[in-house]
Amino acid sequence: MSKLKIFASVSAAVLLFLAGAAAFLFYHPSSPALPPNEINDASGLNHTVIGEVVSPMTEDEIRAAVKSAKEEGFKIAISGARHSMGGQSMHPDALVLDMLHYDRVLSLDVEKKLVTVQSGVTWRELQEYLNPEGLAVMVMQGPNLFTVGGSMSVNAHGWDLRNGPLASTVESFRILTADGMVRNCSRTENPELFRVVLGGYGLFGVILDATLHVTTNNAYKASVFQIDYHQLADYFLNTILPNADIDFGEADLSIDPKTLLRDVVGVAYTRASDTGRTDALQNEINVSRDRFYFDLSRRFDWGKTLRWRLQIRHEYPQPGATRTRNNIFRTPVERIRYYSPSDSDILQEYFVPPDKFVPFIDELRAVIERRHVNLLNATVRYIAPNDDAFLNYARRDYFAVVLYINVKSSLAGQSAAREMTRELIDLSVEDGGTFYLPYVLYYDKSELAAAYPKIDEFFDMKREYDPGELFMNGFYAKYGK
Ligand SMILES: Cc1cc2nc3c(=O)[nH]c(=O)nc-3n(C[C@H](O)[C@H](O)[C@H](O)COP(=O)(O)OP(=O)(O)OC[C@H]3O[C@@H](n4cnc5c(N)ncnc54)[C@H](O)[C@@H]3O)c2cc1C
Repeated sequence: MSKLKIFASVSAAVLLFLAGAAAFLFYHPSSPALPPNEINDASGLNHTVIGEVVSPMTEDEIRAAVKSAKEEGFKIAISGARHSMGGQSMHPDALVLDMLHYDRVLSLDVEKKLVTVQSGVTWRELQEYLNPEGLAVMVMQGPNLFTVGGSMSVNAHGWDLRNGPLASTVESFRILTADGMVRNCSRTENPELFRVVLGGYGLFGVILDATLHVTTNNAYKASVFQIDYHQLADYFLNTILPNADIDFGEADLSIDPKTLLRDVVGVAYTRASDTGRTDALQNEINVSRDRFYFDLSRRFDWGKTLRWRLQIRHEYPQPGATRTRNNIFRTPVERIRYYSPSDSDILQEYFVPPDKFVPFIDELRAVIERRHVNLLNATVRYIAPNDDAFLNYARRDYFAVVLYINVKSSLAGQSAAREMTRELIDLSVEDGGTFYLPYVLYYDKSELAAAYPKIDEFFDMKREYDPGELFMNGFYAKYGK
């Protein structure tokens, strides 16, 4: 064989090998379409056969669905964007009220900065409505794909340092309860129902519409800080929070195995204008590239090192870059969208008091290393205290440690995830903390009660407002009895 032919054959073989390896590494099946009576949530771990899905567009349709479910003996599970991860928005054989089409903005009072929306509206839709008015949402999650009703029902929180969780920004709402009545709820009208529905996981009725405080869509100047985790709590408490012009701050902990949870990079945003800006809303870019790097970090330790380095270099805003409030509340999520029949990416969140932050992180690192946890992201936020919600996690000021973890779907993989979660819940509770409830239900009732001492009172109130247990979901079915 001539040298040329040998070279051509070897090159072809190498190319074929590389193409095969790339296909093996980066091909992901898309999530399978489910029959109309089967649903799942964002974890992919809660495949459930339900009775039927009803997608109301009017209040009359919601009333009719509730009435007929009651008459026919069906349970009702209420679902928003279904991004909770533990079956909180579903129940076997139930009528699932899919609220996504009940999504109109009903009114805006620019003077009072109050907006009234139907509960199925997503933050993204609301941002599109508010942005031309120079207004913005006060408190919401980092990403904007969730519904207002689903966010109120978990009492969501995000980047905002000043206002605590979402409940603090709710002026009032109307709810359709199990007896077929519509009740107005606020801090002065039906205050008990107001408190229990916020963070109430859809167990008290269907939130129809809500009036929320909104704020000026200010511009903010970014500053990036790179420190050691020992300094992080002090940096938040003594540098960021005392500066009244800084409204947002968040920090990422290293996922690089060599510097795991030790190196920290964070961003703080300082108010740069007090006028309502109408800058174009920015959408996620470079999705395929970032998905590629994210996938490497999901599969390999060297991928975690690489992604952390790239993140430090390219992810954070340039010093002095300005962004509006609406654009800060648009954390990219397409890059992490993932489906696999054998594994899943899940979120968890632990709240720890500032003086326990370092010991908790040391304990967390030990758990991750000992249990070989596939950690994809670790973010730290500050949560201001707020007691508007009855089942409250923001009982004092906390640092929230948000973990994004890849877990195997097999029985052994789920059992490992369960053991890890229970260990972390115990650690956070021992440290005077708690954990966030919209995620996978790996814990048992005693752990829930340790983290939420008022849980039995909460379930008693559910039965008081809904004696026939019409509103049902995986969370109540597992812990409510
Ligand atoms: C990628 C990702 C990022 C996230 N980031 C954050 C974050 O930054 N901060 C944070 O706090 N959380 C975060 N979460 C969690 C998220 O806030 C919750 O899962 C939230 O419930 C999602 O809203 P949803 O519309 O998907 O609600 P769903 O998951 O559909 O429902 C959640 C609960 O609300 C109830 N519900 C929904 N609509 C109504 C209604 N109209 N009336 C009464 N009850 C209702 C449901 O029954 C259910 O119990 C994140 C989740 C994911 C997957």
